[in-house]
Amino acid sequence: MESRWSEADAADFVRRYADQGVAEDLALRVYSSRLLGADPRLVQHGGGNTSLKTSARDVFGAEVPVLCVKGSGWDLGDIEPPGLPAVRLEPLLALRRLETLSDEAMVDAQRGALISSAAPNPSVETLLHAWVAPRYVDHTHANAVLALSDQPDGEAICRDLYGARMALAPYCMPGFQLAKLAADVFETHPGAEGMILLKHGVFTWGETAREAYERMIAVVTAAEQRLSAARPPPARAAASRAGLAEAAPAIRGALAQAGDGRVVLDHRGGEANLAFAVGAEALRYAQAGPVTPDHVIRIKPWPLILPPPDTASDYGAAVRAALADYAARYRAYFERHDARAEPRKRMLDPWPRWALVPGLGLFGIGASRKEAAVAADVAQTNVEVIAAAERLGRFESISEADLFDMEYWSLEQAKLGQARRPALAGAVAAVTGGGGTIGAAIARAFAAQGAAVAVLDLDLAAAETAARAAGGGLALACDVTNPADVLAAFDRIAETFGGLDILVSNAGAAFTGVIGEVDDAVLRRSFELNFFAHQHCAQAALRILKRQGAGGSLLFNVSKQAVNPGPGFGPYGLAKAALLALVRQYAVDHGPDGVRANAVNADRIRSGLLTDEMVAERARARGLSERDYLAGNLLGREVSAEDVAQAFVSLALAESSTGAVLTVDGGNIAAALR
Ligand code: ZN
Repeated sequence: MESRWSEADAADFVRRYADQGVAEDLALRVYSSRLLGADPRLVQHGGGNTSLKTSARDVFGAEVPVLCVKGSGWDLGDIEPPGLPAVRLEPLLALRRLETLSDEAMVDAQRGALISSAAPNPSVETLLHAWVAPRYVDHTHANAVLALSDQPDGEAICRDLYGARMALAPYCMPGFQLAKLAADVFETHPGAEGMILLKHGVFTWGETAREAYERMIAVVTAAEQRLSAARPPPARAAASRAGLAEAAPAIRGALAQAGDGRVVLDHRGGEANLAFAVGAEALRYAQAGPVTPDHVIRIKPWPLILPPPDTASDYGAAVRAALADYAARYRAYFERHDARAEPRKRMLDPWPRWALVPGLGLFGIGASRKEAAVAADVAQTNVEVIAAAERLGRFESISEADLFDMEYWSLEQAKLGQARRPALAGAVAAVTGGGGTIGAAIARAFAAQGAAVAVLDLDLAAAETAARAAGGGLALACDVTNPADVLAAFDRIAETFGGLDILVSNAGAAFTGVIGEVDDAVLRRSFELNFFAHQHCAQAALRILKRQGAGGSLLFNVSKQAVNPGPGFGPYGLAKAALLALVRQYAVDHGPDGVRANAVNADRIRSGLLTDEMVAERARARGLSERDYLAGNLLGREVSAEDVAQAFVSLALAESSTGAVLTVDGGNIAAALR
């Protein structure tokens, strides 16, 4: 591992922050924290922490010694000075006299010593940072060091490699006791450049930011070299996506049926994951526990281990059986350790955060695309470290009792937050014609309710813009009138999110002509887009919904023309009338599968279908202002794309409605359904 320290960049940080009144030592603390946070081989997703001993002015203007230490909720990769709140050092040092200190009292004491009451909670490792003397202290969960220390003889391996350069401390639960142990180890090893906490991670320190950082890089590099001298990696497995689009919905559907709601899957193939999944001893090493205790809150004590996908049999049933075993094992683990917990704990959900599948690799599991990605990232790190540890010797995690204490430690659980689950959390929605005004509004509305969104459009750039506005959805170029294109797009959705729950079949275009004179070709083109394309998309969606076996929702953008034809709109209205019949047929034929089919009947909304020029022309023809034309309805209200989008969301949430049409036109009795 190369040092990424650059004197030019460091000077740049110092200059930039000086303008904001930030002192040089803190600016350099921010700089080197970001260097650590930028490398996933060192820390991931809020892991690790750093500190600086400096001084700050109190209310009397007097200089007081403080510890600037990472605040909870901040990530080292993009930390700013407010993410390193200043805590008065003296009260922190005084705490060392105590024999014991409860977690709550420790948090209170740390908060009470903050210079600013608006600061975030200082790291749970604050006391450790305070009690080792050097000015700069860096802490990571470096993969290479974990691979060495997560061994039955990890202590001997580390002592042999590092000698007196690094102090070694046995595993100990983070918090007050670990801080005491580390302070004792620091004082009995005066020449050490840092300390390895076996089966947890590594600390380095120094009088300058650069010294502490480069000591970290040197320690990790030595570990990497030791590992590369170990036995070569086992036989390689070929990268494969075969069967992913079929298997992922079966896994996702089983999780939705057994678990606490729908989830998004994040698939990671790749050689290392595939080889890990098929290793002769995979059942042992994959279930031995996480590589550092911090990970247990992200990925639970073990993954869900599934059999290889088998399209000839009911793979969903095999997944459900594995899930039932997983939950039973988790409950037994909880009960075993809760019996000695004081006070007793409340069991967290017993469902896995990642799955290991021979032939496919691994899947991160989460209530959102982001949560699934975090689980997959952490799982990936576990695969890499465990594989490296197995090449060297035999992977060993902390004991199951220590793991339980960590998973149920209130200070760790606080990191996850108590956010309420949005109505469509874990759901996956696909929106066709998603690049247009109405489609983009629909994509945003579903994303706002927590759904992962796929935006399909003929125009990829428009789809990408809409997907970005929907919080980073999947953008796909798709000609919905081409069945092969549609099937390929829906396979991509299943591969990306693990499946699908909601189709918003929205793509359409107005075709006009007086019916007694219109060319057949116009009528056929309208039917291709305004009828058959909906059928292609619904069939492709249904194929995924059936693999999941967990119901779903098909939503269609019908038009006022379907029930209240306008002159000259025959080619459009006839296809839309057929579409309305299609909606009802889906409701009839697939209600028994738990699949609902509903439609929105919208009218007079500025969009690709009703352009600004068309609005101007029609208003002029009727002798109205544009506003009076658009608001020419019972409510006297201009209907927006957002109103249409909300109607689709409402139908997606209406669990007992199928075959229904929701009208969004401000009120037009002539177009009312009867
Ligand atoms: Zn740590």
